[in-house]
Amino acid sequence: MRQKNCSSSFTLLQCQRCGTCCSEPVVPVTDSDIKRICAYLNKPARKLVKFVSPAEISYDPEADLWINFRYGKRAMTLRKVRDRCAFLSDKGCAIYAVRPFTCRTFPYDVVLKSPKSTTIESLGLLSIVDCKAKPSNENSLSEVVENVRRESEQDRRYHRLVEKWNRLAPVGGTLDFLNFARLE
Ligand code: SF4
Ligand code: SF4
Repeated sequence: MRQKNCSSSFTLLQCQRCGTCCSEPVVPVTDSDIKRICAYLNKPARKLVKFVSPAEISYDPEADLWINFRYGKRAMTLRKVRDRCAFLSDKGCAIYAVRPFTCRTFPYDVVLKSPKSTTIESLGLLSIVDCKAKPSNENSLSEVVENVRRESEQDRRYHRLVEKWNRLAPVGGTLDFLNFARLE
């Protein structure tokens, strides 16, 4: 379901809350995502995340999200329960107001001119799951762009944190990393 990358003719979508994107993929998260969700739910980070191996998530082995532990590299993701995101309820996303930025920007595939810019270089749709979102005039492109810009800013900060940890590692386990990231 890839659309042409011209923002003037791009059709915005309305999520139909089918839950497919909350069920199939593993959702990578940043320290900023987890801080928000912890504060909202008043729960410790260790109850919200799962650290997954390269066999469990299809990311480039050289991507910035890989955290080195003494038992190998892992990526921080949202916890799943029976193959669904732990926060998917019968009424939809239970943490909608504070959901990770990767959930906010899905299914758009937006590249900005530069990391801090709000000018779009290309605009398309990801096709990693069978998304049921329908064309709609109710959503605004500027909101999509702002979410992409904030996602990219938070990703950059998180990747710098991971890089700093990886320079020390392999020194510890996942709880040590959560402490290092000030999430516990
Ligand atoms: S946090 Fe919410 S939107 Fe994101 S995968 Fe989980 S249920 Fe879906
Ligand atoms: S797969 Fe598409 S329609 Fe379904 S919940 Fe995700 S964004 Fe919404």
